[in-house]
Amino acid sequence: KLPPIDGDFYDYDLKLTQEERAIQLKVRNFMEDEIEPIANEYWNKAQFPMDIIPKLAKLNICGVAYDGYGCPGLPFIMEGIIAEEMARVDVSISTFFGVHSGLAMGSIYLCGSEEQKQEWLPKMQRLEAIGAFGLTEPNVGSGAAGGLETTCQKEGDHWILNGQKKWIGNATFSDVTVIWARDLESNQVKGFLVRKGTPGFKAEKMENKMALRTVQNALITLSDCRVHEQDRLQKANSFKDTAKVLRMTRAGVAWQAVGCARGAYESALKYTKKREQFGKPIAKFQLIQDHLVEMLANLTAMKAMVYRLSELQDHGLLTDEHASLAKVFCTMRTRDVVSRAREVMGGNGILLEYDVARFVADAEAIYSYEGTKEINSLIVGRAITGYSAFV
Ligand code: FAD
Repeated sequence: KLPPIDGDFYDYDLKLTQEERAIQLKVRNFMEDEIEPIANEYWNKAQFPMDIIPKLAKLNICGVAYDGYGCPGLPFIMEGIIAEEMARVDVSISTFFGVHSGLAMGSIYLCGSEEQKQEWLPKMQRLEAIGAFGLTEPNVGSGAAGGLETTCQKEGDHWILNGQKKWIGNATFSDVTVIWARDLESNQVKGFLVRKGTPGFKAEKMENKMALRTVQNALITLSDCRVHEQDRLQKANSFKDTAKVLRMTRAGVAWQAVGCARGAYESALKYTKKREQFGKPIAKFQLIQDHLVEMLANLTAMKAMVYRLSELQDHGLLTDEHASLAKVFCTMRTRDVVSRAREVMGGNGILLEYDVARFVADAEAIYSYEGTKEINSLIVGRAITGYSAFV
């Protein structure tokens, strides 16, 4: 009898409580039953399966680690477990969820007033309102801390927003988009909750992506877009507040990377046991086993790292550099795992229906978003040397 195919070789998940394990299995079942059968099709046609949203809502997992406002208030480790389980089957769905539950809800949770939280978080928790997060711009990616070109200017009890945002996930259909803009008066970054249908807000779908094709990324144009002072994130006073949101979500991307690597590893391992060459399963060849073991070793190291990362988060000890180190390491290792997974599948590794090609492509996107490898390395480098090498 062949051993089971499971990427959790050290049984890290035994650390979870029964309640946490039940949520993990609920998400796993949802992903395997509802998403796996359609994942390649939607990725291929670059569309988002809107009808999964009510089903996803039933899992009651949005804002899983936030307290109040209808959110479950569970340990942060659950946010990680959910990201891993989703990405293990489809990194796009995990990204949709991360943008909504992490970046958008997280901005409101960390930077919103009590009224803003009361208005948005309960309905976002139920996925009755979808969120997006607009920081990156056509000319400003890594340098967002100092150089946003999108501006805001106070006019009476309104703010006037002008500029463009690029790559904004979910923004083609979001009910609320968090827009970060530089105040022309104070030069500080402020955040705004831009409601769907606000005049002067236009979101156009970005085409021709070779990764995360199911995610609907938008180019947003803000032309004299008027937002009421009440919809300015009341506790976002500078980029330092934006960075608090990113610290939390970068930890989630590290977990996503584990899921992406795990999905590819498990598919590849299954394949090598079935695929025969020279009259025997290719899993019997030493060089194939070496690839599989390298993948598993990476995966196992990554998992140890993200578990500890979430423990730090749960103890209120997570720093930017903790999150950045895990984001860098896990997305780098994932790139290695998915490329080995592709390699052991030979030609079939580049066919979508063999369930590895999608992970190979998607690993490229998570490697670059929420801070590139270089930017997250520089955050860690600054912390350990005391020298900032950004400019
Ligand atoms: P650039 O900043 O132009 O960087 C280009 C290269 O230069 C990189 O290798 C970078 O590391 C390097 N570099 C830059 N500065 C330095 C430096 N000081 N030292 C050394 N090297 C440097 N953004 C949002 O706001 N919301 C979203 O929902 C969102 N979703 C995304 C989804 C996808 C699929 C992708 C690909 C991106 C998404 N982004 C989103 C944007 C993402 O966060 C940016 O792509 C990322 O921050 C990098 O910015 P950039 O692409 O402009 O690259």
